[in-house]
Amino acid sequence: MSYQEYLPEAIKLSLEKLTLLPTYGERSASRFLYNMLKLSKDERLEVVRALELLAQSIVECSECGIYTDRDVCVICSDPKRSKKFICVVEESQDAFAIEKLERYTGVYHVLGGRIAPLEGVSPKDLRIESLLERIEKYKVKEVILATNPNTEGEATANYIVKLIKKQFPTVKTTRISHGLQFGSFIELADELSLEKSIENRKSL
Ligand SMILES: [Zn+2]
Repeated sequence: MSYQEYLPEAIKLSLEKLTLLPTYGERSASRFLYNMLKLSKDERLEVVRALELLAQSIVECSECGIYTDRDVCVICSDPKRSKKFICVVEESQDAFAIEKLERYTGVYHVLGGRIAPLEGVSPKDLRIESLLERIEKYKVKEVILATNPNTEGEATANYIVKLIKKQFPTVKTTRISHGLQFGSFIELADELSLEKSIENRKSL
């Protein structure tokens, strides 16, 4: 009997499916799974129901790419938010981190990652084309580059700024300041540092 044959079918299947998650290797998958099994049956089912709702209802906003449960997200459809200001982030969770500060009144644009040639992620894999379309459509005044303050995030910001300057020379481009430590992630930044880095953004 091989080791695999001792495993109940449900565990085998769940491990297999959990490793579909990006960056989830076997170790992360089994940590998740065995922690789940520590819960009571009722709690497990609650987790599963929440995940099912997530799987069924969450889509990317057709305007900005933020995770939402409607076609156009609540931020893009809020008349009080100015479409003249676009804050460009790598992932939805970065936008949510900035939203938590309750200060920013423009809209977002989620790239869906960062340029990372070693991982085979090139500009065409990111939502850059639609960013340029929105800049044109809404006569945007300022694009705030809030990609993560690390090598790939900086390179991605610089790439986008170059494109914007070429196509829309009058649009202001700014970069969140280095109040955030280099090599860090927006998603994990404390609120004060994040707020400062946006307030002290620099023109590029
Ligand atoms: Zn949106």
